[in-house]
Amino acid sequence: CGITAYCGNGEALPFLMQGLAKLEYRGYDSAGVTVLNNVLTTVKCKGRLKNLEEKLKDHDMTGHVGIGHTRWATHGIPSNLNSHPHTNPSNTISIVHNGIIENYRELKDILLEKGYSFQSETDSEVVVMCLDYFYEGDLLEAVKKTLNCIDGSYALCIVSTEHPDEVVVAKKASPLVIGRTEDASVAASDIPALLAYTKDVYFLDDLEMAVLKKDSITFYNKDGKEITKEMTTIPYDM
Ligand code: GLU
Repeated sequence: CGITAYCGNGEALPFLMQGLAKLEYRGYDSAGVTVLNNVLTTVKCKGRLKNLEEKLKDHDMTGHVGIGHTRWATHGIPSNLNSHPHTNPSNTISIVHNGIIENYRELKDILLEKGYSFQSETDSEVVVMCLDYFYEGDLLEAVKKTLNCIDGSYALCIVSTEHPDEVVVAKKASPLVIGRTEDASVAASDIPALLAYTKDVYFLDDLEMAVLKKDSITFYNKDGKEITKEMTTIPYDM
């Protein structure tokens, strides 16, 4: 279970993949990535990162914005369909999630009633369907409303074709660290995933959100009010 995210001037995929490799120690049964380049291209599969790398060869994964995931299955068996990222029906929003959505069953029932159909057996897929349901042009607002509905733990990274220059991240009781390079904003579950790119990091507190852009990071509290954060410079080589 690990998460990576990139928004910058460089290519997203190399960062996402090296970060997932650095997070392998956390354990996983599946892996996947989404890269945004006008459209969302998602490639994911059960098994090791090697399997994912093999599958990636068949796709054009160029793009400056993306998210990555290694999964430690909690709800739904390890399978290609249950792997993250998960996307909404129109493939305009993609998310990765570490943690457990405790009330996913009741949210799923509500969403099913509203006409949504699900591709996976994961708890995580309700997050992207909630985002789809709440989205009315303001992605951060949709994230805020979604977080108000979900109980449990999460580190979340979200990309949308309607907001092609950003990644929205949020966390509660699952780790997430944000980094700033010369020309990119990045995020991951743990510091080793960032160190090849930067030692300048920010730690999100529970219930906080951030919008990563190529030249800025903006932090928000759970009410969507902008807040300031201290940068920490990691003082060692790993
Ligand atoms: N609960 C989610 C799932 O089973 C996320 C697991 C994880 O943290 O990797 O898909």
